[in-house]
Amino acid sequence: MSEKTNKIRVRFAPSPTGFVHIGSLRTALYDYLLARQKKGSFVLRIEDTDRNRFVEGSLENLLIVLEKVNLKWDEGPFLENGKIIEKGEFGPYIQSNRLDIYKKYALELIKKEKAYYCFCSSERLDEVRRIQEVNHEPTKYDGFCRNLDKETISKNLEKKLPYVIRLAVPKEGTTKFSDLVRNEVEFENKLIDDQVLIKSDGFPTYHLAVVVDDHLMQITHIIRGEEWLSSTPKHVILYEAFGWDNPQYAHLPLILNPDKSKLSKRQGDVAVEDYLKKGFLPEALINFVALLGWNPGTEQEIFSLDELVQAFDINKIQKAGAVFDITKLEWMNSQYIKKMSVANLTAKCLPYLVEGGLVGKTTSKEEQEKITKIITVTQERLKKLSEIVDLTGFFFQQPDLNPDLLVWKKSDKEITKIRLERLLKFYDTYTERWTEKGVEENTLKLIEEEKLENGPTLWPLRVALSHLERSPGPFQLTWVLGKEETLQRIQSAIKSLS
Ligand code: GLU
Repeated sequence: MSEKTNKIRVRFAPSPTGFVHIGSLRTALYDYLLARQKKGSFVLRIEDTDRNRFVEGSLENLLIVLEKVNLKWDEGPFLENGKIIEKGEFGPYIQSNRLDIYKKYALELIKKEKAYYCFCSSERLDEVRRIQEVNHEPTKYDGFCRNLDKETISKNLEKKLPYVIRLAVPKEGTTKFSDLVRNEVEFENKLIDDQVLIKSDGFPTYHLAVVVDDHLMQITHIIRGEEWLSSTPKHVILYEAFGWDNPQYAHLPLILNPDKSKLSKRQGDVAVEDYLKKGFLPEALINFVALLGWNPGTEQEIFSLDELVQAFDINKIQKAGAVFDITKLEWMNSQYIKKMSVANLTAKCLPYLVEGGLVGKTTSKEEQEKITKIITVTQERLKKLSEIVDLTGFFFQQPDLNPDLLVWKKSDKEITKIRLERLLKFYDTYTERWTEKGVEENTLKLIEEEKLENGPTLWPLRVALSHLERSPGPFQLTWVLGKEETLQRIQSAIKSLS
């Protein structure tokens, strides 16, 4: 075992079951923030001992997601050139490569009489449970094998009877621990099951593996979701049984839907991958998730990762569930989008435009210029990158025009047509440079001189160019579309009115 350090060491210990849950991202983020703030180490450990829940490829996916959101870890598995390698002196960091270690420690507990072999068949366990249910008693193992004599145990082992190893939980008293979020927590021992530590297939359960690893890896702070709170007394009993010191615990509040139910797949997306795919920026997602259960106590809402490292306070995590408000996430994302350079935003939007069939895989210089202009006029209104397809489709392909939409609410078809015809003539003979400002100023001058009025003139112009109820302003549109396309769209709008 490595020499004991005085450094803060935290670990993110996900089970690779397919996708990265928003709640896991928050755990990883708080781990990261604490480690960076205290100049400690952030360890990634993979808890894959439950083979039934294992999903092929999910480890690679997890590493990719963590990298995308920029949470850099110091030790654990890494993906390098498509291969999984490990770095750090406390490995292996993938639990399925540590099976001998768990076995050794389980046997040590048996020697200390803190754990015992249990040979009960599943039929017997079912029967015990059935009787307990009938009697309205808590369902737990009845301790049948707890006092088996040494001879019977040896015989059973010799006969290679299947067995599990169970923790001998004290029958009386309570188990207490302190938690950074919940202060003192206490559980009655008589309600705690004699937890299985090693299963009949030889694999450890989560409870044994997590305690052994957190100890051997010198983890100082365990940050995890509230759903693990009821497991913690079992862990505390295990630490005591081994004679080890407990780490500091912090159980994070549940993440809730707006209706206060637990955030679940059924009600929306819970996978970080899905949010990234929709075009939530990693920085915005991180900023949003940081505030699910913690806040700085000030008005500030926008935080970079570095600012979070400075501001985060593990002692100020709230107990109450944190509501996942998608509107807030969208608002936050739009704030980040607004701050991006057009070039960067264009590069980020391009894959969506390609996938949406609006742009080919390769683009000419002219097309690139047009795309840049489109992004410039859409940036303000974009809440997530995937929206770019719906918001800008009309620039690339003229949708069907609804002539009624062309008519300003206090106007009529006749006036609309006359105004559009006037604009068509004006632009057709327009000789100045076709800039946004120039076209705007000259058009407004024309409206004023000829008393055309803004509403009945500019509304039809904007709709003629966008075919939409809402869009960027008319002169942003004339600028992006260019003179020729502007003339052509006005012309077809006039045609639709006759
Ligand atoms: N492997 C557990 C999970 O999937 C980790 C729980 C813990 O952090 O102790 O979330």
